[in-house]
Amino acid sequence: MESTKVPGEHEHDRLVAPQRAELDALTLLVEDGQLAEVVRTGLHAHIVALDARPPIWLRSAVAKANAPCPCGSGDLEVACCGPLLDGVPAATALALMRSRYTAFVRSAIDYLIETHDASTRKVADRASLTRWARDNGWLGLEIVATERGGETDDDGIVEFIARGVTRGQPFMQRERSRFRRVDGRWYYVDGAVK
Ligand SMILES: [Zn+2]
Repeated sequence: MESTKVPGEHEHDRLVAPQRAELDALTLLVEDGQLAEVVRTGLHAHIVALDARPPIWLRSAVAKANAPCPCGSGDLEVACCGPLLDGVPAATALALMRSRYTAFVRSAIDYLIETHDASTRKVADRASLTRWARDNGWLGLEIVATERGGETDDDGIVEFIARGVTRGQPFMQRERSRFRRVDGRWYYVDGAVK
């Protein structure tokens, strides 16, 4: 085996960690069949490879861990929408809304369907969601207003503007979305495009 430096090897010993408990959702990373553990030490996290092979993939793992969230919250993705896409319940309607935007950016179609309220899920067509996510470049999300949707509410409204590019043409979607909470989980019900 070559002894030259493995790309990314030097980057794994320190990365700026998210400062919220959701990092625990990342305790074990599995990528390309290699196992690694994310270990928190104060405000920093270390990624520790659990097998002897060179951690070539750590570059992408570290980049992912340090990526700003696509939803524009200003937090790292691993401390914002990332854990929600991995199954952590959204605390608020706004958090769910943001995570669904990130799901479009990440083409996480299953998440978009799972977070669609049962009463309206039949309109969440997998093929059209896949096309919509794939054919658009996503430029950003702006929250215009929220009503209720807090941790003690069972329904809420989020009005937002999503910007993107489709076939070279910029577009802007302004929507007033309704959300409701069932058994402790927020769901997207429907939205009125403005
Ligand atoms: Zn986010």
